[in-house]
Amino acid sequence: MDADVIVIGAGPTGLLLAGDLAAQGVRVTVVEKRPATVSNLTRAFAVHARTLEVLDARGLADDLLTTGQVVPRVRLFGRIDVDLSRLPTRFPFVLITPQYEVERLLRRRAEGAVTFRFDTRVTAIRQDASTVTVDVEGADGPETLRSAWLVGADGVHSTVRPAVSIPFPGRTVIRAMVLADVRLTTTPTDPLTVAGRSGALGFLAPFGHGWYRFIGWAGERTLDDPVTLDEARAIARFTLGDDYGMHDARFLTRFAADERQAPTYRAGRVLLAGDAAHVHSPAGGLGMNTGLQDAANLGWKLAAVVRGADAALLDTYQAERHPVGRQVLRASGTVLRLAVGRGPLAAAGRRLLPWLLAHVRPVARKAALTVSAIGVAYPSPRGAHPLVGRRAADLPLRPGPGGATLAQALRPGRFVVVQAAGPDASFAPVPGEVDVAERVVVRRADGGSDALLVRPDGYVAGAYRTAGAPGSPATTPATSPATSPRRATL
Ligand SMILES: Cc1cc2nc3c(=O)[nH]c(=O)nc-3n(C[C@H](O)[C@H](O)[C@H](O)COP(=O)(O)OP(=O)(O)OC[C@H]3O[C@@H](n4cnc5c(N)ncnc54)[C@H](O)[C@@H]3O)c2cc1C
Repeated sequence: MDADVIVIGAGPTGLLLAGDLAAQGVRVTVVEKRPATVSNLTRAFAVHARTLEVLDARGLADDLLTTGQVVPRVRLFGRIDVDLSRLPTRFPFVLITPQYEVERLLRRRAEGAVTFRFDTRVTAIRQDASTVTVDVEGADGPETLRSAWLVGADGVHSTVRPAVSIPFPGRTVIRAMVLADVRLTTTPTDPLTVAGRSGALGFLAPFGHGWYRFIGWAGERTLDDPVTLDEARAIARFTLGDDYGMHDARFLTRFAADERQAPTYRAGRVLLAGDAAHVHSPAGGLGMNTGLQDAANLGWKLAAVVRGADAALLDTYQAERHPVGRQVLRASGTVLRLAVGRGPLAAAGRRLLPWLLAHVRPVARKAALTVSAIGVAYPSPRGAHPLVGRRAADLPLRPGPGGATLAQALRPGRFVVVQAAGPDASFAPVPGEVDVAERVVVRRADGGSDALLVRPDGYVAGAYRTAGAPGSPATTPATSPATSPRRATL
């Protein structure tokens, strides 16, 4: 075998996954058709709170924060405010930073531990009961690589997906949007500006070094129509009310917005993640974020399987991430249709939503939790403790070897046992078969449980109320066999 796992694609999804696998001692090769140089062109620029938490659990969030601009409140369509500042997280905002900054940090983390094959394109894939065989074409001509597992993180035009006969049903929702990276003469008052009118959409955001990204759409053009700065300016004036003196476009293009999702994320020894598995319009800035969270979910499971855990653990990747992908498609589709819809229903929605967000607190909270992915929770078995499957809050820890916060205790990429501080804050026994990196003590109890078993991706695998005395058996053990590699009882 050339590797335990071959990852196709060095976009954000593939880079995070490869780094996570390598951190667990898995032999990983990344195959990428692009050259090794990092591009300064970017697609994504919004990094949401849950993604920042994922990066924090890898020691990367603070570096990324220095590259961008923090926006605690997003203004949509001139009137709709989504307030992120009350989110229960260390990162109550969206970070505006180019995708290449995220990729740069993830690649730096992976380099040295991962074998990269740049300038190398996958052309065909075959698999049998024990091996995946990959034909690649690089500078030295065709070659064949073999691994036990393969992950297609090769984007919307994936080669892996059709090679293993996974369909990609859905449709094109906007045929040709304009994208322009420009400089401005006047600075908009809101850092992130999104405006929709019947049959038109405009979006403007800063993404570093004085550059702004404009995305606009005002009717049916085709991808082949030439795009000019004048067209971008005209759409900006129509939708945003101003073109802010756009000039010096360094990148002008058109792109199509599709809504598609693979019905299954796994075919035998081949898995899909990121845009290869789901794609939607850029509305909400969710695509890269969702791909990174796919990778965080898959990485520890695949590492456990490579080390000998039952491959059925990988079924939980589908069970947990496919519904999230579907929800993201629905959320971004709703935003898009509300923004550009022509009928009276869309017009009424455009009027109603600002009122709901301003006056109905649960609606405002739900919007913030959805966009940030802080509200994502995974299915838990019947009768499990209510915290099982939920994201573990980044609790402050009592000083000790695990670090100052739960995110820091998760950095080794293994399970963490969290126990509430008390007069006898020593730990209940943990069975040997659970790969626990740290046992840490929080300064306060969480959600009525005395102890939590937290998965490497920061979700709760088990919550327990201990009987009081250290070492005494749990009175309400509740683990999730579906989400933890092995059953554990505290
Ligand atoms: C205009 C625009 C704005 C966006 N804004 C946001 C945003 O603000 N926030 C957000 O979260 N998302 C945003 N997105 C979406 C985001 O860019 C994607 O979701 C993200 O890049 C997906 O990452 P990925 O790693 O899954 O795939 P990709 O980034 O597409 O990476 C796939 C990689 O696989 C490689 N590859 C493909 N085929 C092969 C092959 N046969 N052999 C070898 N290598 C191969 C490619 O070269 C590529 O490097 C935006 C998208 C667009 C178009």
